[in-house]
Amino acid sequence: MKCRACAQKAVIRLPSHNSAFCPGCFDRFVLSQTARAIEDHRMLTPEDHVLVAVSGGKDSLALWEILSRLNYRTTGFHLDLGIGEYSAESRGHVESFASRHNLPLVVESLRESVNGSVTDIAHATRRPACSGCGLAKRYFFNRAALATGATVLATGHNLDDEASRLFGNLLHWHDEYLAKNRPDLPSLSGLSKKVKPLVRLTEKEMASYAFLRKIPYVLKECPHSTDAKQLLYKKLLNEVESASPGTKHAFLFGYLERIDRLFPMRLEEDHEESPSGRCEQCGEISWTPVCSFCRMKEKVAKDLEKDGLIPLPKTAP
Ligand code: SF4
Ligand code: ZN
Repeated sequence: MKCRACAQKAVIRLPSHNSAFCPGCFDRFVLSQTARAIEDHRMLTPEDHVLVAVSGGKDSLALWEILSRLNYRTTGFHLDLGIGEYSAESRGHVESFASRHNLPLVVESLRESVNGSVTDIAHATRRPACSGCGLAKRYFFNRAALATGATVLATGHNLDDEASRLFGNLLHWHDEYLAKNRPDLPSLSGLSKKVKPLVRLTEKEMASYAFLRKIPYVLKECPHSTDAKQLLYKKLLNEVESASPGTKHAFLFGYLERIDRLFPMRLEEDHEESPSGRCEQCGEISWTPVCSFCRMKEKVAKDLEKDGLIPLPKTAP
């Protein structure tokens, strides 16, 4: 098998692009696909300061590395979720990546802030762990973007993540989520602009990139990830993809070509519903007098009290 670009020995085959690449040409392919996503969706300008949300997984660490290679000014942000060994390992990978590449990093601890873990939040709110975790991430990401003066928040969502999210939203006709199923969300009333520069690259391509660039990342799955219906949607889309290469890309990008026609008013409507005040408790931007993060925090405190438990220590054991 020969590289399509230079005819040397290929190490990776990309059926969806009807291509195969040697390591050097695959590297250029990943950089050019990222640059194209940034340009097509007007995600970033050379003046932007990008806050990269890094979980310790392959996608977010690779994104941080790619954006630095493309000469964007970046700061990493890691939220330690306090989920046992999984979080300890994730944080370790993020911290050693930052020091190896000499990149600025901000770390916050959910356990310290809420006095409880993701599991305590799930118990207190009677909601799946991913729901409280998602709320906490949105809160901390926005807060960190404002605190660091970052103009854009970038996350490592790839083509598989975005296509499976679209699939789920269509299956349930979640109009409100469909309108936001895009790799670029504008800045609204003090909330940061959000972008997903890896949207043109698949999960397998990102794993190959991390391997070839020697980026160590957490291999453990979050113990709560079995909650996620997205895993099923990814599996189903992968079956379609292996029978008909390129379908995942056509599905997502066909939708993105139509999104402004399908939902012309949604973002404007959302704009009108944007937060106008500050949370009475934490001072962050909020739709309501007390923000949803602080309300969640209160529920965790009450739950611990009700169960006769003492609050958890401020730091993870
Ligand atoms: Fe959070 Fe759920 Fe992801 Fe685990 S799987 S990190 S709980 S969103
Ligand atoms: Zn608050």
